[in-house]
Amino acid sequence: MITAPTERKWLTCTHCGAKHSIYDNTANCNGVFLKCTRGCKREFELIIEDGVQVSKKSCPADSPRTVHGMS
Ligand SMILES: [Zn+2]
Repeated sequence: MITAPTERKWLTCTHCGAKHSIYDNTANCNGVFLKCTRGCKREFELIIEDGVQVSKKSCPADSPRTVHGMS
């Protein structure tokens, strides 16, 4: 469990990867929709779990629950 913010990260548009805002490593967020301002201008959902932004693609039909665990 993280108690103190120690690191700041960019949250990015899940469509085009453009930087949007800063969050820190204690953040938790879901159900918040942001509009990409620097890139594609589309809306995306902001999901942060325990200080890590989760990129959920807007088309759940063909996205088989991607786990970003590249070893
Ligand atoms: Zn974008």
